[in-house]
Amino acid sequence: MNASSPMLQIDALHVSYGQVEAVRGVSLALQPGQIVSVIGPNGAGKTTLLGAVMGLLPSQGGLRFEGEDLRTLDVESRVERGLCLVPEKRELFGELSVLDNLQLGAYAKRLKSAALKSRLDGVCDRFPRLAERRKQRADTLSGGERQMLAVGRALMSAPRLLMLDEPSLGLAPLIVVEILSIVRKLREEGVSILLVEQNARAALESSDHGYVLETGEVALSGESSALAN
Ligand code: ATP
Repeated sequence: MNASSPMLQIDALHVSYGQVEAVRGVSLALQPGQIVSVIGPNGAGKTTLLGAVMGLLPSQGGLRFEGEDLRTLDVESRVERGLCLVPEKRELFGELSVLDNLQLGAYAKRLKSAALKSRLDGVCDRFPRLAERRKQRADTLSGGERQMLAVGRALMSAPRLLMLDEPSLGLAPLIVVEILSIVRKLREEGVSILLVEQNARAALESSDHGYVLETGEVALSGESSALAN
């Protein structure tokens, strides 16, 4: 892959639920080291788009990660390549502890215990609040802590492209600021980010490039600063 080729390239992607076409010919490119946001109203197809990239939903069209065709790869292989999704509903195991939830994030990699410990230490350094609550059940965490746990669990797979589905959903404004600052810090450390948000202003302030989805199609795209205007 040469320096100018996109890390993620989506070409004319279509995703349907039965007769309903939720994503209709979406094309998107994300360069290595970028934060790209996808914004748009309820039902625009944002979650569906992420599901297709992750391999959770069947799709038609082009889907390449670092030059490799993703369409023949199952979800686990996509995780192994460095893709990871933090779903909108966080999907934590509520009855399990913070620590157990984090360890499950590394499951697909079948890590040796030393490597697992080093990843856990990394997540605990990044989220001291999770470290303090490592024995607490996930379903007793606050909304912000749950989102941190969902991001922390994703980081256990050492992703190179992290996809975040509405990380600000249901969170107080100050927590949103904190989460987005964590996202920008991850980018500085070399993780590229695909950020889906209904909170357009916050998403555009934190991203390099933005796409506006409307009823399954890209209505507008460009530099985030220009889109914000
Ligand atoms: P939101 O911001 O509300 O999460 P979104 O932009 O993420 O919206 P999607 O959840 O991708 O939008 O939904 C896109 C369209 O696909 C909507 O019309 C939705 O009703 C439809 N849809 C989503 N999931 C399913 C499903 N499992 N079965 C049928 N239709 C679905």
